[in-house]
Amino acid sequence: MAAKPPAGDPIQDAPEVTPPQHAAAGLPAVGHSLRIAHQQMGVRRTALTLLRVNQKDGFDCPGCAWPEPDKRHAAEFCENGAKAVAEEATLRRVTPDFFAAHPVADLATRSGYWLGQQGRLTEPMYLSEGAERYEPVSWDRAFDIIADELTALDSPDEAVFYTSGRTSNEAAFLYQLFAREFGTNNLPDCSNMCHESSGSALTETLGVGKGSVLLEDLYKADLIVVAGQNPGTNHPRMLSALEKAKANGAKIISINPLPEAGLERFKNPQNARGIAGGGTALTDLFLQIRIGGDQALFRLLNKLILETEGATDEEFIREHTHGFEEFAAAARAADWDETLRATGLDRADIDRALRMVLDSKRTIVCWAMGLTQHKHSVPTIREVVNFLLLRGNIGRPGAGVCPVRGHSNVQGDRTMGIFERPAPAFLDALEREFGFAPPREHGFDVVRAIRALRDGQAKVFFAMGGNFVAASPDTEVTEDAMRTARLTVHVSTKLNRSHVVTGARALILPTLGRTERDLQGGGPQFVTVEDSMGMVHASRGRLEPASSHLLSEPAIVCRLARRVLGPESHTPWEEFEKDYARIRDRIAAVIPGFEDFNNRVSDPSGFALPHAPRDSRSFPTATGKANFTAAPIEYPKAPEGRLLLQTLRSHDQYNTTIYGLDDRYRGIKNGRRVVLVHPEDAQELGLADGAYADLVSEWKDGTERRATGFRVIHYPTARGCAASYYPETNVLVPLDATADTSNTPASKSVVVRLEQTTPA
Ligand code: SF4
Repeated sequence: MAAKPPAGDPIQDAPEVTPPQHAAAGLPAVGHSLRIAHQQMGVRRTALTLLRVNQKDGFDCPGCAWPEPDKRHAAEFCENGAKAVAEEATLRRVTPDFFAAHPVADLATRSGYWLGQQGRLTEPMYLSEGAERYEPVSWDRAFDIIADELTALDSPDEAVFYTSGRTSNEAAFLYQLFAREFGTNNLPDCSNMCHESSGSALTETLGVGKGSVLLEDLYKADLIVVAGQNPGTNHPRMLSALEKAKANGAKIISINPLPEAGLERFKNPQNARGIAGGGTALTDLFLQIRIGGDQALFRLLNKLILETEGATDEEFIREHTHGFEEFAAAARAADWDETLRATGLDRADIDRALRMVLDSKRTIVCWAMGLTQHKHSVPTIREVVNFLLLRGNIGRPGAGVCPVRGHSNVQGDRTMGIFERPAPAFLDALEREFGFAPPREHGFDVVRAIRALRDGQAKVFFAMGGNFVAASPDTEVTEDAMRTARLTVHVSTKLNRSHVVTGARALILPTLGRTERDLQGGGPQFVTVEDSMGMVHASRGRLEPASSHLLSEPAIVCRLARRVLGPESHTPWEEFEKDYARIRDRIAAVIPGFEDFNNRVSDPSGFALPHAPRDSRSFPTATGKANFTAAPIEYPKAPEGRLLLQTLRSHDQYNTTIYGLDDRYRGIKNGRRVVLVHPEDAQELGLADGAYADLVSEWKDGTERRATGFRVIHYPTARGCAASYYPETNVLVPLDATADTSNTPASKSVVVRLEQTTPA
């Protein structure tokens, strides 16, 4: 029996609030995941599907990018992985009848949650110029429409080709190949909005813009620092790895403005102690830092390490690093008072952290958006690298950098060349292999693409997955920019806000999900993905596709490329569509580390990509060494009567996908328009728990942005800080408020005032 989608928009934002929890997972997580899975898939399909998630012969979880251990449990998924799978494998369907019943103007009034709950898209749909409704369109006609618009452009650079992290390696490789053969490097991706700051900082300092640790390193570490990250919601199986690390003797320092249940205690639902017992206390030291104080904290720790006799790894510094003296001079100048102001910490906590650092021979620092989405994110992450270099914690088992990626193949897409600033060596290899001259000028990242659309420099927007308008900052500006396009195209599995904020014409192209069988002319196909730790492995779906009209992402790119590029293209698009192994042959020829790709990926465990700093302590940087850096200390300051706001996810949320209206660990039910404020700050601002307020962001250029109607929750966040969910608060972040160097929207340090209002 097909599950029915909800009829009306159920969003009735009426938050109920209870005290935050102090442990994550356990039986409630199991119950919650099964309830959502049963609602969407029914009992039989739930069992069939969930038992294949992250298995060696199964499909890769479409959720986050956390790696799988080599020895797999029968239930190798977390609550949020189960929700992501249920969303994709749902029995609910969005058919042409649905679009006939719902004009775009009606869909535009619906919440993102309601749109997502309608189910899987089943046919290509077209919104012609001036039309009120999407109508079904054949695939051939859809490709004609796109080709006509693309070939009518004055320059290929008037097209933007966006990618979201769900896209497989094979589809991503073809997509960038098509865009470059068409003539543009306009390949923005969701990385621009999340870990671009990590990539920028790590490439400059270590020579590789990715993490340097494997899962086994976590099990060997003496100390794991988790900074600006909430794994209990965003990378839940990381908690199992931390639990194992603790069992092996590791200590954990958590650095975050909010106390998060997952980092306090983990009740592993895969063992008896987690189900019936008290679980495992994870954090040994919690540093409740002010938003954006991390660079100052790491700088002071570096000073204290330098001042401790015998604490630095002198041989490593001498043999493998560059720029030590300049860095050391800056670190020695670090000031306790300024650090205490920047971090809001007390001296005793920093002393305790230092002792743990000095006691550790193998240290790993993990981080996520809490470090990457500030104006000074790149120097912050560089300071983390300084911290690790000082004691030789790079290229040693149990030590290294661990930026944790939030979307399953976001790292792989970048490896495949989805990047607006490709390296010359990559373009040279493409040219050699495919016999065309790829464009060399840099393209648009996300923020520049929005500006280009806004200013009429870009006219066609093509999205391979994702929900661009909900993920991007400055919602009104972004939505207006999309409306100026001549054509917007979305390759999607489900309906979302980006389908209803359209250019003059719009297409929705429905595609296969990870869970589904991919049958092509050459037989059944699989795709590959790269996890957060640079492991590449296969992903095979088994379910019957949601509709017979779906095409896979590689097939969509191949057919579009043939139609747009015509006989002048010598790329064997037809062959690629039939047999993905032929795509992997070409990836092997172009991208270092993928040699003998087809053979190596037949190993069910996959293979690790090379990482020179980890593998051989060699550093492919401009200096040929690991670079110490010495940036000035920065931290965000909120004037009197203002707070620093971070935007974040709820527990019932995965990136822009809203699964439900609860945030169980934080004690919030049935509501998303909430703002978490420290009770003493709220008291000073005259805001009782349960009061309602507008959030008004204030920017240095005098501009303001407003998000209306948030229920105030007194919450134990750091003093002077507040937190609220995105995408509701994306409106507060202007397009130009970005991180230096990486251009990532600075969504984690927004100065706001709270204006009391009455509930809507
Ligand atoms: S930790 Fe991430 S990859 Fe693993 S099951 Fe959960 S959401 Fe999926």
